[in-house]
Amino acid sequence: MLEEAGFETMRGRVKVDEYLRAPGYEDVFIIGDCSLVFNDEGRPYPPTAQIASQQGENVAKNLVALLRGGKTEPFRFDLKGTLASLGRHNAIGVIGKRKVFGSTASFLKKANDLRWLYTLGGVPLVLRKGFI
Ligand SMILES: Cc1cc2nc3c(=O)[nH]c(=O)nc-3n(C[C@H](O)[C@H](O)[C@H](O)COP(=O)(O)OP(=O)(O)OC[C@H]3O[C@@H](n4cnc5c(N)ncnc54)[C@H](O)[C@@H]3O)c2cc1C
Repeated sequence: MLEEAGFETMRGRVKVDEYLRAPGYEDVFIIGDCSLVFNDEGRPYPPTAQIASQQGENVAKNLVALLRGGKTEPFRFDLKGTLASLGRHNAIGVIGKRKVFGSTASFLKKANDLRWLYTLGGVPLVLRKGFI
């Protein structure tokens, strides 16, 4: 679909500039799984909800700045940590420099999932979608 729109892609993602704009466009922003952003070591960040939501915030603020004649800010990904489920009561992750395993990691993963649901839709969404 991105190719049909005229964007050059790498594995289905568009390499965006530091303001998350499509190459050659001042006013087209691409975020989330469709965007390709590299870290300081030149490696692409994996497509995750964490980066997508931070990109959304950055673009929203920059759109407001553009409309009001303010200063736009380049996107900087702030990795909060990584957690991955390994079954119902098991998980693994890294938070800061600390590695977490097993039931502790699983608890943190579930707590983080609930926190995100709460951010999106408050208590009703937590009750509807959260596995408590
Ligand atoms: C099984 C699975 C597990 C994952 N687990 C994690 C995890 O634990 N942690 C994590 O950080 N990331 C996880 N991810 C990745 C994460 O879900 C994505 O990186 C994130 O959702 C990307 O956000 P996005 O807004 O780019 O796309 P999406 O969240 O996919 O949103 C795109 C939206 O656009 C809508 N849409 C599509 N086409 C059209 C159209 N033509 N017109 C209008 N609307 C349209 C879709 O319905 C959808 O709502 C997981 C992904 C999968 C598939």
